[in-house]
Amino acid sequence: MRTLGWAAPAPRAPLAPWEFERREPGPHDVEIAIHFAGICHSDIHQARDEWSEGTFPMVPGHEIAGVVSRVGGAVTRFKVGDRAGVGCMVDSDRDCEECRLGLEQFCPNGVYTYNGFERDGVTPTYGGYSERIVTDENFVLHIPDELPLDAAAPLLCAGITTYSPLRHWETGPGTRVGVMGLGGLGHMAVKIARAMGAEVSVLSHSPAKKADALRLGAHEFHVLSSDDEFEKLKRRFDLLVNTVSADVDFNPYFPLLRRDGTMVLVGLPEKPLSIDAGSVVGGRRRLAGSPIGGIRETQEMLNFCAAHHVACDIELTPIDRVNECYERVLRSDVRYRFVIDIATLERA
Ligand code: NAP
Ligand code: ZN
Repeated sequence: MRTLGWAAPAPRAPLAPWEFERREPGPHDVEIAIHFAGICHSDIHQARDEWSEGTFPMVPGHEIAGVVSRVGGAVTRFKVGDRAGVGCMVDSDRDCEECRLGLEQFCPNGVYTYNGFERDGVTPTYGGYSERIVTDENFVLHIPDELPLDAAAPLLCAGITTYSPLRHWETGPGTRVGVMGLGGLGHMAVKIARAMGAEVSVLSHSPAKKADALRLGAHEFHVLSSDDEFEKLKRRFDLLVNTVSADVDFNPYFPLLRRDGTMVLVGLPEKPLSIDAGSVVGGRRRLAGSPIGGIRETQEMLNFCAAHHVACDIELTPIDRVNECYERVLRSDVRYRFVIDIATLERA
């Protein structure tokens, strides 16, 4: 079926309206009328081909929230009118060790929501900057009624990508968490870590974000620009959640970890990191990484956010401003996630 969306026609080219084909819902598919789509920094990395060679035209968007408009005959978990979301994945082989554990994010045959190919290997996937999506019900999430649909959309990536490592490293009362970078992911890390009971500090390069950081739930806010300032926080944290999107020297941050502390990378800067072995070896520290989360854990995160009244701080934008939004995200000038109002698609 013809579907209207916005696409990057080529690497680094501005996004523009584009029509493409989506499949009719099959027996196991859910069709969602998209109401809102978050703008993740990963959309920008990919539209600019900063990670690997992308597939163009590219319709970005993996923070998708809307309402079910059609269901296939064999669908059991959704009905027309349900509030529903889709995140970064739309399929996996469902048969490997990872899938059987509900860890689809590690499936070697996982299918990404856009800039990927369906399991047939040839049909490109297109994301949420569009009027509708058709997805197997096993990769569709229920958005709890307590969460506003627009502020819930970014939970599908920013929410799960921070919730998953916070859970994995057993964040709770008594844990000291440092969040590096207060953007889309960072502000969710603050809210979620706080809701889990941790002591939370924000480590930012934007002094103007201090009041927001404290309002979002951080106990402390630091802009670390001198050796002295790093020195004061030495051996402070159990976990550093590194959401920084830019090519920055992370070596001075390792000494901020206590013995056996972990810096988990969720940010994906373009260039390879250069790590000073001594700063990790000392203190038996760990450098780890974490991609999104599995489907089961994503639903758990949505339910956790509903129970704790946690949603994203968003700036709603019409779709014809998407290119401006990209520029503002690159300048760390978003409070704290742009969400596209898909109702603006038709007149754009
Ligand atoms: P974002 O909203 O742009 O936030 C990134 C933050 O990094 C900025 O707000 C800024 O925080 C900090 N930063 C930016 N430039 C910096 C610089 N030159 N020096 C120091 N700090 C800088 O991006 P996002 O959507 O949260 O995504 C963050 C990263 O995570 C991206 O690389 C994205 O691709 C990646 N990501 C990974 C996953 C995953 O599965 N692991 C999922 C989603 C996104 P301050 O202003 O506070 O310093
Ligand atoms: Zn994302």
